[in-house]
Formats: sequence, structure tokens, C-alpha cells
Amino acid sequence: MIFLSKHKIEYDRPGCIGCGTCPVLCPENWFMEEDGQAQFKKKEINENDFDSNMEAAKNCPVNVIHVLDEKGKKLI
Ligand code: SF4
Repeated sequence: MIFLSKHKIEYDRPGCIGCGTCPVLCPENWFMEEDGQAQFKKKEINENDFDSNMEAAKNCPVNVIHVLDEKGKKLI
């Protein structure tokens, strides 16, 4: 199967408590900023980034990271 869809990140940054989990699980897309909150590098993610972004979203303790499918439906 060819992976053509563009999944998107939705992130409620004000809710981030700065636990540091997402950059550990998905260093290719998440990093900590100087103010102590996380930020993503790419809003649109591809096949290679999908699993690790899903892991970051699943393990965020305050559930502020979401992954949307190409139709805008929240997968998490
Ligand atoms: S896992 Fe969630 S709370 Fe922790 S740094 Fe990332 S966005 Fe913030």
C-alpha cells in the first residue's frame, strides 16, 4: 500500500506541562523550547514520522498532542 495521506499534528501548546516525553519518543518532530514547553517542527507528517508522533501523542500525560488523518479526523 502506498502511503499518500498527509497526517497533521494538532497541538494545544498552552496545556503542555513540560514533562519532556515527546522529544524523547519523537526527536525528529518534537523539541523543548526555552520556556520549558514542547514544540513541533512539522505540522504535516509523513509515513516515516507517523509511528513516533503517535507514540508521543499517546504518552503525553496531558493529552495535548493529537494526530489527524487526511480528512481531519483525530486518530488520537
Ligand atoms: S509530552 Fe505533552 S506535556 Fe510532555 S512535553 Fe510533550 S507536549 Fe508537553
